[in-house]
Amino acid sequence: MHIGIAKKLEAIHSKFFWGATSSEKKMVWIKWDQVLAKRERGGLDIGSLVSFNLALILNWKYRVFRYPNLLWVRLLKTGYGANGGFYGRSRAAIGTSPWSRVLAAANKLEVAGVLMKDTLYKQVGNDRDTIFWDDCWVGDCPLAVRFPRLAALEAHRDCTVAEKWSDQGWCWTWQRRMVGGRTLSSLDELNRVLGDFRCSEEGDVWRWKLSDNGEFSVADTRRWIDDIVLPTGAKCTRWCAYVPRKVNIFIWRMRLHRLPIRVTLSEKGMEINSILCAVCGMSSETMSHLFCHCEVTLQVWAAMFRHGGRV
Ligand SMILES: [Zn+2]
Repeated sequence: MHIGIAKKLEAIHSKFFWGATSSEKKMVWIKWDQVLAKRERGGLDIGSLVSFNLALILNWKYRVFRYPNLLWVRLLKTGYGANGGFYGRSRAAIGTSPWSRVLAAANKLEVAGVLMKDTLYKQVGNDRDTIFWDDCWVGDCPLAVRFPRLAALEAHRDCTVAEKWSDQGWCWTWQRRMVGGRTLSSLDELNRVLGDFRCSEEGDVWRWKLSDNGEFSVADTRRWIDDIVLPTGAKCTRWCAYVPRKVNIFIWRMRLHRLPIRVTLSEKGMEINSILCAVCGMSSETMSHLFCHCEVTLQVWAAMFRHGGRV
């Protein structure tokens, strides 16, 4: 979905939430982004439609790398390069084609810091493509960067991880015999970094860091984006599963002082006939009066407690 359409749908969603129609406007009492946020962040846990759309876009990225042999992926690569245009060909993201818009949206998330570059990473299996020294496959940088002294001594610099591994462990092939304490200590450190790594019979697999099982999840990705882009309210939303949703939402608004109380409306500049309590007419209609001190309200509370067997 085009990002502009997603934003328009979000606006329609907001109007519907506040009860507005095409012909009648309604007051927006709480910013829509705050409404969308998680309950522990003071929202109603609705989730952003824009984030949902971005998660769907990122699913395309995941599928390009995860399933490289699908026909549509191979077709894309003929036009946009080996990585489908996601890495190394920024020009592809400038065009106006639908795929260029996908690239632009995905790149924008990384530039804005919403997603890290290694959110999608390759898990090495029986790797026959990953270059041992120059690809980033263990840690956050290539081994040649981390261990330049050892990489310089390597006799077969282009060897893959699979070629380097045997059932007995790592096969080191140095140009000359190692001498010197620093080189040997680097090798010890390299062995420690490689740790318990074992080549498996399975092929390499692309993993999505935002999901526990490494498989791409639209829901997990959407929550991740929402947590970064949506605001955090001052109060955590209280939610009781035993009462209707509209009651929960009413209490949520009450705790945030976002109800159409007469005094509040007057403070917002609306012209109203009176700010006295609409129920008893004895005092100003404030939040505390209406729910705690109004004599009619107190009678209602008392009746409710009697009904509940507490009095
Ligand atoms: Zn009253």
